[in-house]
Amino acid sequence: MYKAFLIKYSEIGIKGKNRYVFEDALCKNISDALKKAYGDFEVSKEQGRIYVWALTEYDYDEVIAILSKVFGIAAICPVMLVDDKGWDSVCAAAVAHVKERYPDRNFTFKVEAKRGDKHYPYTSPEIGSRLGAVLIDNYPEMKVDVHSPQVRITVEIRGKAYIYSESIKGPNGMPVGTSGKAMLLLSGGIDSPVAGYMIAKRGVKLAAVYFHAPPYTSERAKKKVVDLAKKVAVYSGSIRLYVVNFTEIQMAIYEKCPHDELTIIMRRYMMKIAENLALKEECLGLVTGESIGQVASQTMHSLLCTNDVCTLPVYRPLIAFDKQDIVEISQKIDTFETSILPYEDCCTIFVAKHPVTKPNLNVIKKSERKLEEVIDDMLERAYETMEIEDIEV
Ligand code: ATP
Ligand code: MG
Repeated sequence: MYKAFLIKYSEIGIKGKNRYVFEDALCKNISDALKKAYGDFEVSKEQGRIYVWALTEYDYDEVIAILSKVFGIAAICPVMLVDDKGWDSVCAAAVAHVKERYPDRNFTFKVEAKRGDKHYPYTSPEIGSRLGAVLIDNYPEMKVDVHSPQVRITVEIRGKAYIYSESIKGPNGMPVGTSGKAMLLLSGGIDSPVAGYMIAKRGVKLAAVYFHAPPYTSERAKKKVVDLAKKVAVYSGSIRLYVVNFTEIQMAIYEKCPHDELTIIMRRYMMKIAENLALKEECLGLVTGESIGQVASQTMHSLLCTNDVCTLPVYRPLIAFDKQDIVEISQKIDTFETSILPYEDCCTIFVAKHPVTKPNLNVIKKSERKLEEVIDDMLERAYETMEIEDIEV
């Protein structure tokens, strides 16, 4: 029944002169996302609107599910196309649309008309009132309410006539790629995939880095992170994932530094490596799943110490979120079930029983001096042995 979808977007609308950049990015992201759908589609931009045209048969539910995950879309309106825009055929199509779409017609409605074709015999208000009357003739249980109707039936007369009455909520946000790129520190936990999702929602393309510690962490733990990256990529588009072998560095820290400072020192090296990879990938920032006070390494004192090694901005979208709120988002974006799989994480293996909760930066730096002789070679080996997985959607 629907040959097209009208895509409404919100925030892109306020971008002034750069508006076309956002619109073009949104068109491209929609096209890319629909490549995996059954059927062929064309995405076009006309008069400040984006349309998705179905060129072949397609699966309606699948298309809605895909479009609901493309950031930048505020709403999706399935559109019925009427090739013959003559008045009688428009009326017949509107009557058929209502019959098909609304088996229960006990609702208030309003017809909103937009006449793009100025030669059409009726003006926009005339189209509205005449079509409203036709619908009531056919379905007397429907009542007009011009102020707050339950259903708005829109009719646009252009080259063809377009009829739509439904508006399915999109994910909002901004088209991915319009805000630059950031490097996500992606662990197997609940938080970092959610952090990546939130940053991508603001139009940021993602690269990611995962630190593993074989043989202390297994292939399955790594696979879990790859699976999480795939789930985030459903929203963010393709992600280049760096997998860094952190075992040697972690062991050295474990052997040479005070145990209550292990996690902080480890995190500082993770951030440092992540920043180097970020610069290589032309990223403009780092992203973590940290939240104030969640664990010892995320107190404000600890965050001060880990942040100290970075020159790039570190984005922490979950910083003020409670765990339960993070869990809810992870359920919504379908990463939760993967995140809670019980595979070991490289941090949990070497954690101290009583980690410092108020680390002192000078003390930490002093402890790190114990690594001076070995760390440069170790970092070099970590970069040399690093693996890259390109996660495509
Ligand atoms: P998450 O649920 O994201 O794992 P967490 O609550 O387990 O977070 P931490 O383990 O302290 O918290 O990690 C804090 C942040 O540091 C993570 O959100 C992630 O961004 C990053 N991080 C931790 N471990 C790793 C790792 N092995 N590889 C990459 N990033 C990591
Ligand atoms: Mg973790």
